[in-house]
Formats: sequence, C-alpha cells, structure tokens
Amino acid sequence: MKNYVKQVVIAAAAVLATGTAASAQYPDRQITFIVPFAAGGPTDVIARIVGEYMSRSMGKPVIVENVAGAGGTTGITRAANAAPDGYTIMMGHMGTHGAAPALYPNIKYDPTKDFTPIGLAAGTPILVVTKKAFPAKDLKSFVAYLKANDGKVTEAHAGVGSVSHTTCTLLHSVIGAKGARVTYRGTGPALNDLVAGQVDYGCDQIVNLVPQIVSGNITALAIATAQRSPALPDVPTTKEAGLPEFEVSAWNAMFGPKNMPKDVTDKLVGALDKALDDEGTRKRLLDLGSVLPDTAGRTPAALQKLVESEVKRWGPVLKAAMATEKAADAK
Ligand code: ASP
Repeated sequence: MKNYVKQVVIAAAAVLATGTAASAQYPDRQITFIVPFAAGGPTDVIARIVGEYMSRSMGKPVIVENVAGAGGTTGITRAANAAPDGYTIMMGHMGTHGAAPALYPNIKYDPTKDFTPIGLAAGTPILVVTKKAFPAKDLKSFVAYLKANDGKVTEAHAGVGSVSHTTCTLLHSVIGAKGARVTYRGTGPALNDLVAGQVDYGCDQIVNLVPQIVSGNITALAIATAQRSPALPDVPTTKEAGLPEFEVSAWNAMFGPKNMPKDVTDKLVGALDKALDDEGTRKRLLDLGSVLPDTAGRTPAALQKLVESEVKRWGPVLKAAMATEKAADAK
C-alpha cells in the first residue's frame, strides 16, 4: 500500500473506532430536546412527559428547549441542522412534518428526507374551543355566528403551518366563513389568552385543553374525531354536533437529524418505547386525551410512512382550503 493510502486507511479506521466508542457510551451527557413551540402547549407537554421518563431510563437529563417561530419550522430547521449524534432530538408534528411544506415554498427541510425517525409519541384529537363568554354555546350556533360575523371573530393559532392553523383553515373551508387570525408562538400562550377572554376561539390539540375545559374556563364545542374522547366524555363529536365533514386529528413524534448512527437511534427508539410502556407515563398522557400508538404504530418505519402519507395528504387539502378562503375574500 502506498504511504498516503495507508495513512488514509488508518485515519478512517480511527474515525470509525471513535464513532463506535462514542455511540457505545451514548448518552454520556445531556440530550437537548427541541420543541418548536412555546412552553405549555401540547407539543411541549407531550415532550416533557415523555422526556422526563427518558431522562430516568437513559440516566442523563433530556432537556426541553423551546425554539418557537414560523409555525414550528424555525425550531425544526435548527434541529435538522444539528450534529446527528443523538444529543439533539426534536418533537415534530402533523404541522411541521406534514402540512408545512405545502405552506412554505422556501422551507429549508424535507420532512421525508432530512430526519431520522425515532417514533410516534401521541395522537392528538382536535377540538373547536371558544372563550367562556362567547355568545354561541354549541357548534351549530358557532357556525351561524361566524357566518354572520365573517372575518371579525378572533381566532388564536400558532402560526402558518401549525396544527391549530391548519385545522382551523380546514374548518373555515368546510363552513364557508372564517375568523380574524391572531398568531401566537404556540397554543400554550394562545390558550392563556382564550382563558382570559382576549381571543374568541381556536382549533387545538386535546392535551392542552382538558384541564381548562374540565374546570370550565373555556368551552369545548366539539371534538373532531369519530368517537368521543374518554378524557372528555361530555364533549360531542363534530358529527354529533352537525358538522361531520370536519374530522381531523394530529400527532406528535420524535425525530433526530438525518444520518444518526444506528446504535444511537436504536437507544432512543428503545427509550421512547419504554416511556410509552411505562404505566405512569401512559396514564399522564391518556388523562390528557392523547391517543397512544401501539408497539407496531410507533416504530421508526411506521413513522416514516406516516410522514410520507401526511405530506401527500396535506398538500392538496390545504391548497383547496386556501383557495376557498381566497374565493370568499374576493366576494
Ligand atoms: N403544537 C403547537 C404547540 O404546542 C401548536 C400547534 O401546532 O398548533 O403550541
């Protein structure tokens, strides 16, 4: 072997050996868990519940960092560009990894190619909620009120491409009326304003809402799933409430940047699995209305499939919904 070739081979072997040794010790320090929305929102709550168990089972702290902005795409872009060493992971969701590509032509990541899927954490039914003092008390009268005050009633959402924005866009296209949009850095702060009566309504994921609905601080008009939620048995489905066309659910899932070493990915997959098998963690998530995936539904391969089908699904749905909104504006 020529000398320089030998050196390259030795150097490559050394890199491989270090890589493997580093992976074998993984994690030997804290893991940063990027949540692309403000604290107190559904994605944050799920990440903190799951992350807490993972900290215990992996023996190193899993620390949530909230990096909000641009409907979650700011935090996800940051996380996608982090070193793929397992020390930066993220909680993506139906918006950041499904709807956003249809809404941001210059988005800097491809949900189907730029990530290492780790696993689905929780399905999250969507509810239509209003402030307590809202004049309409059921979904039918809410629709009538929105139509009568088209574009004037304030709607809280977490930025273009977020779940709250996407699902309310769908709602508006179904009923043929919309609100005046108010943007927040997450539905955590949006919910605070809803409770304070400073905004009128929103579409949000269940985990955020259960405590406030149960204590009567906001009103839940309907849940957009086929069945009622065991966490909110008194809230009617959209079908029961007269709007069967509006049926939609979201999901939250853990990803790493692309090209994470397989043994590191396997450890994270195992840690998420353990968290979702842990009774205490399950109870906390279920009490907040999450729908927990079964073991087959939370594999990295199942998540990759879900992302691919969501990107395909949301593109045309959102284009059609936004065209309906525009056509209504032009009238
Ligand atoms: N999931 C976001 C949050 O945690 C909000 C959204 O996507 O609507 O705030």
